[in-house]
Amino acid sequence: MSRKCIIWLGLAVASFSSLALMFTWKFAIFVMVMIGLHECGHLWAAKRCGLKTGGFYFLPFLGGIAFAGHATSSKWDTNFIAIMGPVWGFLVAIIWAGIYWVTSDPIWAYAAFWGAFMNLFNLFPMHPLDGSQISKAILASINPWLGLAVEIIGFVFTGLIFIFTLHPVFAFLAFLGWTTLRHSITTEPFVLKKIVPSRIKRQLIQLDLLEKKMSEPPIGETLFDKYVFMTNQFASNPEKEFSADEQGWVTLYFDITHSEELLEKVSQAPEKSAMTLGQIVVATCWCISLAAALGFLMFYIYGVPGWDGAMKELLGRVS
Ligand SMILES: [Zn+2]
Repeated sequence: MSRKCIIWLGLAVASFSSLALMFTWKFAIFVMVMIGLHECGHLWAAKRCGLKTGGFYFLPFLGGIAFAGHATSSKWDTNFIAIMGPVWGFLVAIIWAGIYWVTSDPIWAYAAFWGAFMNLFNLFPMHPLDGSQISKAILASINPWLGLAVEIIGFVFTGLIFIFTLHPVFAFLAFLGWTTLRHSITTEPFVLKKIVPSRIKRQLIQLDLLEKKMSEPPIGETLFDKYVFMTNQFASNPEKEFSADEQGWVTLYFDITHSEELLEKVSQAPEKSAMTLGQIVVATCWCISLAAALGFLMFYIYGVPGWDGAMKELLGRVS
C-alpha cells in the first residue's frame, strides 16, 4: 500500500471514529458520505477546468480537503470549482430527502437536514470555507482590493468567533485564515506591485550604503565588515546553523542579492483573469439561489413526523 493510501485511510478512520464517538456510527456514515461527495464535486469541477487533480482527504473535526494540481488562471474557474462542492452536496441532500419521501423513514429526513446545513454553512464567506473562495472570486473581479478585504473580514470574524466560543476548531480556522491572508499579501501580483517595489527600493539603498562603506577605510568591525564576514560564512557553508543575530545578516544578504530577481518576478507575474460583468451576475445568482435552496430544503424537512426519534438514533441524544 502506498504512503498516500495509508495517510488517506488513517485520516478517514480518524474522522469516522471521532464522529462515531461524539455521535453514532450511523451519523458518522452520513457525514462521511456527504463530505466525500462534496469534495468529489470540487474535483469534478477542477477536472473540467483542465486541472490535474490529486484526490481528496478527510480531515477529522474539519471535514475534507480536495487537491488540484495547479492554480486556476481565471477567477471564473476558481468560483466554479468552489461552488461545485456545495452543489453536489445539495444534490446528495435532495436524494436523501427523496428517500424519506418514498420510505417515510425520518432518519433520511434528519440526515438531509444536516447535509443541507453543512453545505449552507460552507457558503459562509469565511476561510477556509467554500464561501470565502466564491466571494473572493466575485468581489476581486470587481476590484482586487475588495477581494483582499473579504479575506481580512473573514479572518477577523473567525478570530472573533474563537474569542467568544474558545472552541479549538475556530483557533485552527483562524490560523488557516491568517496563513492564506499572508499568502495573498505576499504572492498576489496586485499587492506585490504596490508593496514590494518600495521594499526593494529600500534594500537597494542599503546595498548602496554598503558599497559606500566599502570605499571607506575600515575602522574596527564596521557594519560592512560584519556583512561581508557573514555572507562569506554563508556562501562557504549554507548548511550552517546561525544564531538569531547572524540569521538577520543572512536574510539581509539574501534579500539584497535576490531583490532584482524579485522585482523581475513581480513585474512578470500573471494575474488571474477577472470575471466579466455577466459572469459576476451569474456567479452571484448561483451562490444566492444555492443558499436559498439549501435553506428551503432545511425548512421544508424540519420536524417531520418521527423527528425526535431520528435525532436520538443519529446523534445518540435529543438536544
Ligand atoms: Zn468544499
